Amino acid sequence: MKLSILRDPSTPPPPVVTPTPVVTPSSAPPADHPRDASQQRQKEMIANHYRQLSRAKAEGKKVVYTFVPGNLTELIGALGFLPVLPEINALQSGMRGKSAGYISEAEKAGHSEDVCTYVKCDLGMMLAGNIGPTGEKLPDPDVLLLSYTGCFTFMKWFELLREHYKCPVVMLHVPYQGDGHVTPVMRQYVVDQLRNKVIPELEKIAGRKLDEAELSRRLALSAQAERDLVAVWESAKHKPSPIDGYFGGVYYVGPIFSSFRGTEDAVAYYRELRAETEARMAQGLGPVTPDGTAEREQFRLVVEGPPNWTSFFDFWRMFSREGATVVASTYTRVGGLYDQGFQHDPAHPMETLADYAMGCYTNLSLPQRVDLLARYIRDYSADGFLINSVKSCNSFSVGQLHMLRVLEEKTGVPGGFIESDLVDPRYFGKANISNRLQSYFQMLTARRGGGYA
Ligand code: SF4
Repeated sequence: MKLSILRDPSTPPPPVVTPTPVVTPSSAPPADHPRDASQQRQKEMIANHYRQLSRAKAEGKKVVYTFVPGNLTELIGALGFLPVLPEINALQSGMRGKSAGYISEAEKAGHSEDVCTYVKCDLGMMLAGNIGPTGEKLPDPDVLLLSYTGCFTFMKWFELLREHYKCPVVMLHVPYQGDGHVTPVMRQYVVDQLRNKVIPELEKIAGRKLDEAELSRRLALSAQAERDLVAVWESAKHKPSPIDGYFGGVYYVGPIFSSFRGTEDAVAYYRELRAETEARMAQGLGPVTPDGTAEREQFRLVVEGPPNWTSFFDFWRMFSREGATVVASTYTRVGGLYDQGFQHDPAHPMETLADYAMGCYTNLSLPQRVDLLARYIRDYSADGFLINSVKSCNSFSVGQLHMLRVLEEKTGVPGGFIESDLVDPRYFGKANISNRLQSYFQMLTARRGGGYA
């Protein structure tokens, strides 16, 4: 199939803007950034995973590359594969100041400026030797496992990786929730693919049969971690919220979105995180921010859209220094809507994998997304909602201006709109975003009838 996200080589290349310096203070965590025990645990889990990946080939372990939304982590683990998640590597590169260079590599190789910057960052990293975020080399994939959930880019991304690595792609086609719900026929369609195609092909590559009891054991561990994560999300209904459900939230979803769902490590992490959150709530503390514990909760917000990673801490401070806490966000739900009733069910392994893949945020229709945001605004008593629109992320940005209008009508709560990017620092206009946020917060204050402090 023609790779449509490649630029036509006969057209002149777009001007390559000189990338910003490799490490900027805004992209690095502050030296005294507070770290909870759970955060330290997560750091060690991730470091250990990358160490395992660096030894995978020498130890004869098979490696699967796969994406976050609709991932089949428990199945991958039960078959003995080690997963690599390209989006996670891309965002890590963004936070570590490496994405500008990687994106530039990918653009020099012919990838258009309009392509999702996660893709270009990943391809650039691959072209530069595939050194992962911890400085260790990532192993080549034995298979690319594509759960196709709502974003067409995922398919084109793996076509490019398949060309480079010359390895097989196994695809799970996940029906889009176009009519706003999952039907029994849709569920059966996914289950049949799992049983008749995905699992047999993975078994061949893994060199072993799937142990269904092991799969169920892992699904039970997933459900345990998911329950604790829901308690963490719901703590934000408390005033003040003890967590930030967007900037802090992206740390909380790290293990469950990536390689750790269905493991004892994830269970221990979420148990600890929940205990820390409940302790903060009992003490009436606000969330941890880059400047320490938030001292006031001036505004409660719901956020739609992915965050910017290259200036993550600068971006966070634009909120935290104004007393704005994000009480719920959709980005932290792309790897599972556990707080909306779904949790993995070990008694029905295939059906639950199907429901999980079909239920993730990127697979929801626009009216479903609007309804979810409206529920968050109501249930978390939000003063406002904000859309961070990322032009290169089709899956999130499509329809966002329409969503803004419908949500305002539906909830009566004022919305704000800013634009940035995932991992391309050229598209993070600090002064512009800061000005827009300031105006938005002033408007929220004025609506309350108060002066702006
Ligand atoms: S377009 Fe958006 S959802 Fe799709 S791969 Fe890129 S970041 Fe992910």
